[in-house]
Amino acid sequence: MEHLNVPPPQHVKVLGGQGWIGLIDHLGSEATIVNAARVSFGKLKQEMEERDVKLLDYLLANRHTSPLEHVVFTFSVHCPLFVRGQWHRHRTWSYNEISRRYTEIDMEFYVPPELRRQSDDNRQASFSDPNFDGAALRGEIDAHNQKSLALYNHLLEAGVCREQARGVLPQNMMVTFWGTVNLGNLIHFLDLRDSDHAQSEIREYAQAIKLLIKPIVPHVADYLIRNGGTEW
Ligand SMILES: Cc1cc2nc3c(=O)[nH]c(=O)nc-3n(C[C@H](O)[C@H](O)[C@H](O)COP(=O)(O)OP(=O)(O)OC[C@H]3O[C@@H](n4cnc5c(N)ncnc54)[C@H](O)[C@@H]3O)c2cc1C
Repeated sequence: MEHLNVPPPQHVKVLGGQGWIGLIDHLGSEATIVNAARVSFGKLKQEMEERDVKLLDYLLANRHTSPLEHVVFTFSVHCPLFVRGQWHRHRTWSYNEISRRYTEIDMEFYVPPELRRQSDDNRQASFSDPNFDGAALRGEIDAHNQKSLALYNHLLEAGVCREQARGVLPQNMMVTFWGTVNLGNLIHFLDLRDSDHAQSEIREYAQAIKLLIKPIVPHVADYLIRNGGTEW
């Protein structure tokens, strides 16, 4: 049986290859959006024509978002616990996750490929510094991750239950979850998380989502780029 910790065929690697996000499934297309917008006329279309693209632009420009909700995506996300914490603040997604109460296989821990410096004037910001040699510190992070894992295993061997032992595992622990979201709420997520204001780790996932869904919603991507969004 395939394990959920393995990326699905359609996936993008992030965080220097330590994380990934895959597209598990999707429902609907851009034709679904225009069909939903015109449902009162009782006609269905399969292909997008020029006037449909104009209607799509109109819906996006006027935040007429309910037709977007008929397009739905399911992603599988492999990310550090701290990224998952930020992600799960988005309540309009539905989530399921592998439980550490059931399994301890494939335990992995994130070691940042690059350490950034703390911004002086913004507590929520960091910056890359080419003169910052973080190699030794990265080694310390790796050692700390492994020590935490050793303590976790020690607690299990001593008979402590998994649900308490997992408390010693660090924020760098990699977790895998499924997240399902409709296109309207996904655009909101991408707006917030593919942004200079977002932590760069979650931003990598947001950019990967854009790569995964662009073939499914190319005109939506085009509209958002034309209207001040970042590249898809
Ligand atoms: C750069 C950045 C920094 C952040 N820093 C912090 C921080 O320091 N501390 C912190 O706690 N959080 C922080 N957050 C999280 C942030 O406050 C939001 O919780 C998160 O971005 C989810 O956004 P959302 O609620 O719009 O999304 P979703 O939960 O997906 O909701 C989408 C929209 O649905 C509506 N909605 C959903 N649920 C409700 C509800 N119960 N009531 C009313 N309307 C609802 C709202 O219009 C909402 O915008 C940060 C987020 C970002 C992007």
